[in-house]
Amino acid sequence: MSNLRLKIALQKKGRLSDDSIELLRRCGLKLLSSKSSLFYSAENYPIDLLLVRDDDIPTLIQDGICDLGIVGDNVLKEKTQVNLEFSSCFQTIMPLNFGRCRLSIAVPKDQEYQTIDFLQNKRIATSYPILLQQFLKQENITAQIVSISGSVEIAPGLNMADAIFDLVSTGRTLAENNLKELYVVLESQAVFFKSTSEFNSEKKKIYDVLLKRIQSVIKAQESKYILFHAPRDAISKIREILPGCESPTILPLEGSEDKVAVHVVSRESVFWNTLEKLQTVGASAILVLPVEKMMA
Ligand code: ATP
Ligand code: ZN
Repeated sequence: MSNLRLKIALQKKGRLSDDSIELLRRCGLKLLSSKSSLFYSAENYPIDLLLVRDDDIPTLIQDGICDLGIVGDNVLKEKTQVNLEFSSCFQTIMPLNFGRCRLSIAVPKDQEYQTIDFLQNKRIATSYPILLQQFLKQENITAQIVSISGSVEIAPGLNMADAIFDLVSTGRTLAENNLKELYVVLESQAVFFKSTSEFNSEKKKIYDVLLKRIQSVIKAQESKYILFHAPRDAISKIREILPGCESPTILPLEGSEDKVAVHVVSRESVFWNTLEKLQTVGASAILVLPVEKMMA
């Protein structure tokens, strides 16, 4: 691997893999995989990707083997809480808007509880012992932490634990194991991060361009281009209805004195009820289009 190429560590196989690769493709990287497929090289930009288990990514960054990484914030937080040496080594660059989940306490469905104090002197199974320990300390709870590396959700059924502290997204896995979510401790999503040490000037240039592209891809994902017809005198009401809009472009409509065409970029998600509100002030022929790229 050349030292003049920026190296990014990504999860090889799992919940973050496809979205991580897709993000980099959207940034314009043409990715060629090698035979081992642990290694991808961008054909058109000095960037290489290393595909590994997500748990190994922080260490690869800490050891300087890779320059940048994508992991769940939960993984990074668990690692950085282990000791201060780790926390001063990483810098989170930005959240990436995918891999959303939460680290929650869950208990058997039929368990009655009043408050989080229910956990006092109980056994809690988790793969995130450090974050759990921190939470228990903060809540003044004394409990036994049962550290297991996978399938935490089966622990209560096997009478290995009274509760679990685990990642939840839809809640389906919990329901399948007769568990219910009791308390959300941490909201998480995929983050882009680097080591705190400085890049050399070559790598810095590559990084700066990549960072701008990632920012623009994420901004574009959240943005929509909206077009519609509306009565000219409804424009001020329309501005109030549409979230996060730049100044709208107002165009005359051939053969119509009082109606105009409005084009607007909304920087926030556009929900059905927003479109319904637009209709109530007279908007018609409404089109909402995705934005592919957006540069400030
Ligand atoms: P690896 O083999 O790379 O160690 P893993 O089993 O640790 O894989 P995944 O289950 O693929 O990892 O989860 C990767 C990340 O995806 C998690 O750390 C978390 O940030 C995020 N994630 C999103 N939703 C969920 C979910 N429902 N359960 C677990 N992780 C989730
Ligand atoms: Zn893992």
